[in-house]
Amino acid sequence: MSASARRRRYAPPSNLLAGRVVLVTGAGAGIGRAAALAYARHGANVALLGRTRGKLEAVFDAIEQGTETRPVIVPADLDKLTEPAAEQLAAALTEEYGRLDGILHNASILGPRVPMAHYPLAQWTEVMNVNAIAPFALTRALLPLMEAAADASIIFTSSGVGRVGRAYWGAYAASKFAIEGMSQTLADELESAGRIRVNALNPGATRTAMRAAAYPAEDPATLPEPAEHMDLYLYLMGPDACGVTGQSFDAATWSGPQ
Ligand code: NAP
Repeated sequence: MSASARRRRYAPPSNLLAGRVVLVTGAGAGIGRAAALAYARHGANVALLGRTRGKLEAVFDAIEQGTETRPVIVPADLDKLTEPAAEQLAAALTEEYGRLDGILHNASILGPRVPMAHYPLAQWTEVMNVNAIAPFALTRALLPLMEAAADASIIFTSSGVGRVGRAYWGAYAASKFAIEGMSQTLADELESAGRIRVNALNPGATRTAMRAAAYPAEDPATLPEPAEHMDLYLYLMGPDACGVTGQSFDAATWSGPQ
């Protein structure tokens, strides 16, 4: 699908997220960077979480120059996220903004691409920490703040190998199955209250550093850029998706709001 065809799937108003606060993990590069910029351009104050301060500062500067919103930088290594650190983040967001309307759990690492028989335990643990444990810990710490929002959105980033396993994708695939399970379980728990929607989103093959590491022989020019998926990322984050919960979305095949 061409970029212009993708953009026609959903045309969010420029004030879609005005006054809202959204946390984006892995906001310094790739899809997370594109989402942070898109959310800010649509009015959100974005908390930029990542492990490389210089990348976060570049996104912070782009948001400050291009929007009237108030971003903050949250340096954190999700491999080492402790329970107290997650609680401190919740306290810091409460102090800075007093509200939280959305989380995009986007940060992730690929890990080694080897047979499971040879997969080192330390690297398995690191991938699970970043890709699955940290999203759980952050969500649990931040839920009380989100419960105060009129409507809020949690987006977990999945993958094709989080739905059907594939040889040599090891902990990455297992972590994305965990993400799908977490998304469905939390959505079911929160559905009756009706205020927080929870969905999984698979961006599909996208022109980023992670994709280039996974498929070094592939021509990146054949892949969509992160910005081309932002209609779906905006739709799920904004109030037009109220009531949409417990679903798994694919950016490559999504045809717009139903
Ligand atoms: P990317 O370009 O590698 O970016 C990943 C981001 O996560 C970076 O900002 C990185 O920070 C951050 N990150 C990694 N480890 C971290 C840690 N320990 N603590 C905090 N932040 C950390 O990846 P991407 O392609 O944009 O992927 C974004 C999401 O889409 C991921 O969940 C990925 O699994 C999913 N996905 C991607 C594709 C694809 O084709 N690209 C396909 C399916 C699913 P640094 O830059 O500082 O390292």
